[in-house]
Amino acid sequence: MKCPFCGATDTQVIDSRVSEEGDSIRRRRRCAGCSKRFTTYETAELRMPQVVKQNGIREEFKREKLRTSFVRALHKRPVPTEYVDAAIQHIEQELLGLGEREVPARRVGEMVMAALYKLDKVAYIRFASVYRSFQDVEDFREVIQDIDSGAKRAKAPAKSTPKATPKTTPTK
Ligand SMILES: [Zn+2]
Repeated sequence: MKCPFCGATDTQVIDSRVSEEGDSIRRRRRCAGCSKRFTTYETAELRMPQVVKQNGIREEFKREKLRTSFVRALHKRPVPTEYVDAAIQHIEQELLGLGEREVPARRVGEMVMAALYKLDKVAYIRFASVYRSFQDVEDFREVIQDIDSGAKRAKAPAKSTPKATPKTTPTK
């Protein structure tokens, strides 16, 4: 860390402490060149990335907008609000975790699709039909076939959760 007074690059940390909230570190430094002291703060940069639309326009990430997508797709579907909240939170965490300044809107859309796929297949198809702007019934058929094969895969016994085979026959 360069000394802000004389520009020397040799500065020593003489004290370092975490803020009460635990979200920043304050360091006292001393310049080896001019002996002046100064303080630096270290914080994590946690900002939602800007959303880049297909036309190149950048937008602030808005949770409400994300929620609207979910609410529209899930209209009159039996999905509890807390599941939607959890899905939204998950997407936000995922976006933060990317650590990118910008993210294509398409990527956010795919995260919504993935979340809806888990929440409700009807909502998933609704969203996909608008999002991927389905042109004809064939597009729907493809997505429904995807869901079908996905459901079959889910039914097949997975390695991690082997199907419980009763070793003892229940006594009557
Ligand atoms: Zn200095």
